[in-house]
Amino acid sequence: MKVLSVTSEMFPLVKTGGLADVAGALPQALAAEGITARTLLPGYPAVVRALETCASVHEDSAFFGGSARLLAGQAKGHDLLVLDAPHLYDRPGNPYLGPDGTDWPDNGNRFAALGAMAARVGAGLLTDWVPDLVHAHDWQAGLAPAYLRHGPATRVKSVVTIHNIAFQGLFAAEHFANLGLPQSAFAMDGVEYYGNVSYLKAGLQYADAITTVSPTYAQEILSPQFGMGMEGLLSQRRDVLHGILNGIDTQTWDPATDPALAARYDAETLDARDHNKRAVEARFGLQRGDGPLYCVITRMTWQKGMDLLAAIIDRVVGRGGRLVVLGSGEAQLESAFRDAAGRHPGRVGTVIGYDDALSHQMLGGADAILVPSRFEPCGLTQLQGLRYGCVPVVARVGGLADTVIDANEAALAVGAGNGVQFAPVDAGNLELTIERVNRLHADRVVWRTLQRAGMAADVSWRRSAVRYAELFRALVAGTPHAAQPTDVT
Ligand code: ADP
Repeated sequence: MKVLSVTSEMFPLVKTGGLADVAGALPQALAAEGITARTLLPGYPAVVRALETCASVHEDSAFFGGSARLLAGQAKGHDLLVLDAPHLYDRPGNPYLGPDGTDWPDNGNRFAALGAMAARVGAGLLTDWVPDLVHAHDWQAGLAPAYLRHGPATRVKSVVTIHNIAFQGLFAAEHFANLGLPQSAFAMDGVEYYGNVSYLKAGLQYADAITTVSPTYAQEILSPQFGMGMEGLLSQRRDVLHGILNGIDTQTWDPATDPALAARYDAETLDARDHNKRAVEARFGLQRGDGPLYCVITRMTWQKGMDLLAAIIDRVVGRGGRLVVLGSGEAQLESAFRDAAGRHPGRVGTVIGYDDALSHQMLGGADAILVPSRFEPCGLTQLQGLRYGCVPVVARVGGLADTVIDANEAALAVGAGNGVQFAPVDAGNLELTIERVNRLHADRVVWRTLQRAGMAADVSWRRSAVRYAELFRALVAGTPHAAQPTDVT
């Protein structure tokens, strides 16, 4: 079976968040299930540069306002199709934002082009490689199912995966004329969304199946609190909505081999983490201390609950904790964490930015990773934390609820706990939770048990790849997909 994966970012070529990790790891995981996946990416400079082999397989001189080529090639072990359209993608920096930090004004065309090219490939543009299924990730690929539905008749199936329903790809109604879809598609049962165009809604409306990245998030998005306006449509389509957990690439994320670490270790050599802790302390200018060293690796946003953490930092430090923060995002939050580092020299360290190697080092040296998200479709940093013996302390929402086992008395008694969960998600509860973590950390035997349980958890793609493969096969065969206990249906 052949799958075209359509995504706006993919690790290791271009990454702004978890979508890239998933888009990079899933094709390889599917290969183990006998599925060949090719990934269609926009031709950003970093992507075109990375191509190790490259052949132009299609040209169009008038594609969303300029000329475009479709390149087929390999990069870093990935089989790629690259939409080389310099007028849309040949720009430096972030894939979505201009240098002023706001959306590129032509994002509507940039990602319509991606969806349109995906549909062409789905409909058999490349005679030597016709996919059975198009897998569209998030709003940036959301139009692919719409173009497929309104294009020439084809047997190809489509699946859209919601990585974060907060990002909906909304554009003004006037933009619809640029899409080349029939006027009938601008309707409630099409791409129209409260008078605008939504690319995510288009995907949810037209795809043969919808997945999201954890069973709990699949339930949550049926409610107004988490559905962000899409709950009605999702409720109508709940019979084709599936929650399949993300995994992580356990080779990229392996403390036993990680080249970014000062000292490599496994579950039997956890004392070696102390070297890494010293390296983290040195990097963030911290003094040594006995209490837990907490870390945060995140986009600095309201979603991630960073305002909650900022509000209680002084008390975290007052109770003997130390904190290292790596992230970037909202200016107010960035300065709150910079200020905290200024107020607590030697106890709080902040690095504003995006730094892959540093994130690995923090996971290898910190005692616990804080993930106080208000909503979290799956979350990857808690999985990375489990893998590195960096105990996850998480809000009980979405994929965080599905992947971390709270170290309550019962779980501790049977050695099952591998982290700490808290709810409801507010600053007071976060503070109480930190006190609880401090107590757990003070008991060395308990802490080691937590670390080892986390490191023994299966955070790989193996089980989830099986779930995707089952779903894809059922769709292509035209058989109803048997609901799993974790599905919404
Ligand atoms: P989201 O996609 O919502 O940002 P996830 O937890 O799903 O959150 O994925 C975030 C990914 O990006 C993880 O691999 C995490 O390690 C990484 N990441 C987030 N912020 C940074 C940062 N400032 N520096 C390096 N890596 C980061």
